[in-house]
Amino acid sequence: MKPKTKVIHAGIFGDEYTGSVSVPIYQTSTYKQEAVGKTKGYDYSRTANPTRHALEELIKELENGKAGFAFGSGMAAISSVLMLLNSGDHLIITDDVYGGTFRVVDKVFKRLGIAATFVDTSDPEKVRAAVTDRTRAIYLETPTNPLLKITDIRETALFAHQHNLLLIVDNTFATPYWQHPLDLGADIVLHSATKYIGGHSDVVAGLVAVNSEELAERIGFIQNSVGAVPGPQDAWLLIRGVKTLALRMEQIEKNAHAIAEFLEAHPKVTKVYYPGLANHPGHELAKKQAGGFGGMLSFDVGSGENADRLLVRVQYFTLAESLGAVESLISVPAKMTHASIPKPRREALGITDGLIRLSVGIEDGDDLIEDLRQALD
Ligand SMILES: *Cc1c(COP(=O)(O)O)cnc(C)c1O
Repeated sequence: MKPKTKVIHAGIFGDEYTGSVSVPIYQTSTYKQEAVGKTKGYDYSRTANPTRHALEELIKELENGKAGFAFGSGMAAISSVLMLLNSGDHLIITDDVYGGTFRVVDKVFKRLGIAATFVDTSDPEKVRAAVTDRTRAIYLETPTNPLLKITDIRETALFAHQHNLLLIVDNTFATPYWQHPLDLGADIVLHSATKYIGGHSDVVAGLVAVNSEELAERIGFIQNSVGAVPGPQDAWLLIRGVKTLALRMEQIEKNAHAIAEFLEAHPKVTKVYYPGLANHPGHELAKKQAGGFGGMLSFDVGSGENADRLLVRVQYFTLAESLGAVESLISVPAKMTHASIPKPRREALGITDGLIRLSVGIEDGDDLIEDLRQALD
């Protein structure tokens, strides 16, 4: 099945009881049993719910995995996956990882005895140097947020498996339309489905797919034990969102590319970060391991004051956290999504006060460029 067909037909289609073409929202917590323990496969909705199950089958197929799991948020998905680790274990993780991921690793899992080393995973030497005899997993975000650094998933997977480490990839930015980490050797792929998968800024959720029955069993156990699951209404919204994932990503990609080229040529912009530009350090790698470059881009306007001035002038870019929706969003990572990262660390990473991040939407690309032009001028 080609990707555009897959987003429509993968997973569970419709409903066998009524013929309903849309997967119904099974708004129920429990299920009638014909006799004690004799069920139709569902007994309690924390454990399993048909609408959520349809979504889990869908993400499994989109990511070419052995099993899929849905969670109540991206952070719930990430936290549940990290619960595979034991006290005393060590994790190697991308240094400009999503702010919330940094926080949960640094403030919660560290307290529970799970150590982490944050490294620039786009440099294989740095990953190599971080391995200790307690390391159990490597966690990548690629492209990263907000600097769009690219890590070689295939090479990292080879390295991880030589050292008996799990490879976990946060695929939120690339989406299962453009990038398939499990095909490249990763063991676990996860998403903040709040972003491109939902696609309409109306649901918070997380998704996971795994490449083995063993991992499926372990994650399934954690999912049911911890219970950080989404309700059926949110599961349904995600199934609906996926139907247009291909169309949205194609349009977003086109707009993002045009905007990146416009910004690069503008005298008031000191730097543009977009993997689709030939001068981006990860360009060739991004081209090799993903079908597209996505809709996230960042650019530097030199100072926090300049950034503030631009933000009040734009009309079509909504000032908001989050990303990946039909409408274009604009943010200042240093003061918003990445505010929980201490300033010295932020500056060291290149997340300056003048860095502006765009999540490009599906509006007319010319309108978006005109808007940025008047705001910059
Ligand atoms: C938003 C985001 C998360 C966290 O997801 P939530 O749904 O907000 O909990 C994790 N990783 C990345 C890359 C994100 O953008």
